[in-house]
Amino acid sequence: MDPRIVRDLTRLLGPEAVLAAPDECLVYECDMLTHYKGAPDVVAFPTTTEQVAAVVRLCLAEGLPVIPRGSGTGLIGGAMAPRGGVLLALNRMNRLLEVDLPNRLAVVEPGLINLWLTRAVEGRGYLFAPDPSSQMVSTIGGNAATNAGGAHCLKYGITVNHVLGLEVVTGEGEVVWLGGKVQERIGYDLTGVMVGSEGTLGVITKLVVRLLHAAEAVETALATFPEIEEAAAAVSAIIARGIVPAALELMDEPILRAVEAGIKAGYPADAKAVLLVELDGPRAEVEAQAEAVAAICRAHGALSLRVARDEAERALLWKGRKEAAGAFGRITHNYVLQDAVVPRSRLAQIMREIGAIAARHGLLVANVFHAGDGNLHPLICYDERVAGEFERALEASEAILRACIAMGGTVTGEHGVGMDKASSLPLLFSAGDLEAMARVRRVFDPRGLMNPAKIFPAAGACREVGQGGGRPVPEGLWV
Ligand SMILES: Cc1cc2nc3c(=O)[nH]c(=O)nc-3n(C[C@H](O)[C@H](O)[C@H](O)COP(=O)(O)OP(=O)(O)OC[C@H]3O[C@@H](n4cnc5c(N)ncnc54)[C@H](O)[C@@H]3O)c2cc1C
Repeated sequence: MDPRIVRDLTRLLGPEAVLAAPDECLVYECDMLTHYKGAPDVVAFPTTTEQVAAVVRLCLAEGLPVIPRGSGTGLIGGAMAPRGGVLLALNRMNRLLEVDLPNRLAVVEPGLINLWLTRAVEGRGYLFAPDPSSQMVSTIGGNAATNAGGAHCLKYGITVNHVLGLEVVTGEGEVVWLGGKVQERIGYDLTGVMVGSEGTLGVITKLVVRLLHAAEAVETALATFPEIEEAAAAVSAIIARGIVPAALELMDEPILRAVEAGIKAGYPADAKAVLLVELDGPRAEVEAQAEAVAAICRAHGALSLRVARDEAERALLWKGRKEAAGAFGRITHNYVLQDAVVPRSRLAQIMREIGAIAARHGLLVANVFHAGDGNLHPLICYDERVAGEFERALEASEAILRACIAMGGTVTGEHGVGMDKASSLPLLFSAGDLEAMARVRRVFDPRGLMNPAKIFPAAGACREVGQGGGRPVPEGLWV
């Protein structure tokens, strides 16, 4: 990196806010999907919107990529710099600026950790609903940029449903407000466009988010099943009955083993699958729904149903689920994590298909996922020390993705696109569809410097016919 640019950044932000030594920048070479790597040339830690705008304008003048980053927990090859440039680490912009309970909203900076917001308001009976399993560490800015989901998004909606307004520094270095503090959106829903844009349109510097009032009653239960297909069928049956649980999570036997070895959440070691069901709402409604859910589980062969007796037991059941992917490291050297979706009614079928794909590739595939949304997270196990296993794991992962699409699903559920899913977009979208998205991008980021090489597939990547009749992606369309 040209020392002049490092000097300019230091002048804008101060010496404590700029890292330029290659070994320091290496820390930021990847997100949690570690096989995509690309270290930035410089890491900058702004503390104000004005500083973010000044850095973006400097990068524009120098033709340098700008990569926003929250906590780096993304699973898509997102907050990393395959083309070098300046990585904007937003962790120091982490203030809770305003809590407005009468209007049920909060104004936060993007680096605020998700769970900190709920911690700040739960004593007054409120919560921030989007709850990705990473909520102890991921930032609200990162959640908005990836449109994160979570266990309770089945009933309450994903992040986009909880963002009312955004302050953004665009790819042209302008500071704009999209949306605001009121629910009604007038004209173009540009807040909705920005949510899920993964840093390719601009840098989110403030968020107005919705707060929800905590439910009167909550009941959490763990149902065990002799086979995963029966658990999956119970999921469809619960929703078909008109019950929308706050959460409906499915874990299979390898996951249960890992969680018990690592976390000791009290999950049964002998079950082939469990459903973690949470109901919330007015007490009378929760009680009635709990009876109905228990009956549906029994009708689908449930072996047992354990209801959490107190908050401590409930927290332990959730700890097992939220830390399952981490605990899984105990039973495999490495794994590839897929994120895909099938219509809920196809869950039992896709579970059978995943079992067949695992057998064909000679690999263990474990499942822990937001079953209520049909959002799968197969973990495909491999050992990097065994020649060819990583490649086989990738093949199995691709086969699962294709099976999901064949069943009417989609290529990503909640993690986003990043580098990882970019080449899969033409499986769903035609070149024309993608061009419409690219045009939106060019409005916000005409120079293509915001988080380049993410979301859009490389030229020529459209290998197959997408739903819109996809042609090969033309040269020069994508940035
Ligand atoms: C154990 C574990 C469990 C997880 N569980 C879930 C889950 O249940 N649901 C789910 O959806 N995801 C989950 N994830 C993935 C990840 O936590 C989410 O995608 C999360 O929203 C990323 O937040 P972050 O702060 O770490 O963002 P980062 O990883 O730092 O960034 C993610 C993307 O957002 C962009 N970005 C970050 N901040 C900004 C900003 N202020 N302005 C513009 N762009 C920005 C980055 O450029 C990047 O493209 C999980 C990850 C792990 C490791």
